[in-house]
Amino acid sequence: MIHMAGVSKIYSNGSVALSDINVAIDKGDFVFIVGPSGAGKSTFIKLLFREELPTSGELSVNGRNVAELEPAEVPYLRRGLGIVFQDFRLLPNKTVYDNVAFAMEVIESPRREIQKRVHHVLDLVGLRHKARTYPGHLSGGEQQRVAIARAIVNNPTIVIADEPTGNLDPDTSWEIMKIFERINKAGTTMVMATHDKMVVDAMKKRVIAIEQGRIARDQEGGQYGYES
Ligand code: ADP
Ligand code: ADP
Repeated sequence: MIHMAGVSKIYSNGSVALSDINVAIDKGDFVFIVGPSGAGKSTFIKLLFREELPTSGELSVNGRNVAELEPAEVPYLRRGLGIVFQDFRLLPNKTVYDNVAFAMEVIESPRREIQKRVHHVLDLVGLRHKARTYPGHLSGGEQQRVAIARAIVNNPTIVIADEPTGNLDPDTSWEIMKIFERINKAGTTMVMATHDKMVVDAMKKRVIAIEQGRIARDQEGGQYGYES
């Protein structure tokens, strides 16, 4: 599903964000990426959807060699991925329904199918009753649930999240994690960078710790392992 062999990332200013990363993430895995600030977690996440390119090494995602994709192929890579950010990134001028439907409209899904599927994923995140609401009228937790609905509406094989609970209180974070856990149990691979010690320690999933751009630890049922 995700395969990195000797992957390094050096930014143009000389910053070494990742050095010689070797990792395999299989279908159905649930993986937390943890580590101190500046360790390389966001860079790891950005490589997966080709927001950044590796400087060296081999990286494949869903069987595609990410470094060698033509620009025109990048949308096909991203179609197989659902991406969730800390700051939600919803379109403020579209309703909840339209924010989610938009992800299907851009790939020209039939209207009937869009309606069915959008209602289904809004049910899944418990927000069908908010379909006509605008994001500005939702709490942070609700906005993140909309972002998750949008991320999964096209049935991605991998959901990638960068600090998805970073702006949320503990109870709301926990609700969000329960949704991710359900999505994972349905077969979707989950890769999540997080600082949320409570969540990582409670979930008992695979933990990959990155420190100074290298994998310091890779454990099943792992712990966060840092002071929060
Ligand atoms: P984390 O997500 O663990 O905080 P990042 O991946 O954001 O770590 O950053 C890893 C290293 O790369 C840090 O030293 C950071 O300053 C540097 N870095 C991140 N993004 C850029 C960028 N766009 N340009 C230059 N350096 C960057
Ligand atoms: P929480 O306490 O979970 O953060 P809020 O107190 O922000 O939630 O919101 C409670 C409910 O009121 C939510 O269902 C939200 O959609 C709705 N709501 C919040 N702000 C507005 C608003 N400005 N206009 C309409 N509905 C709102």
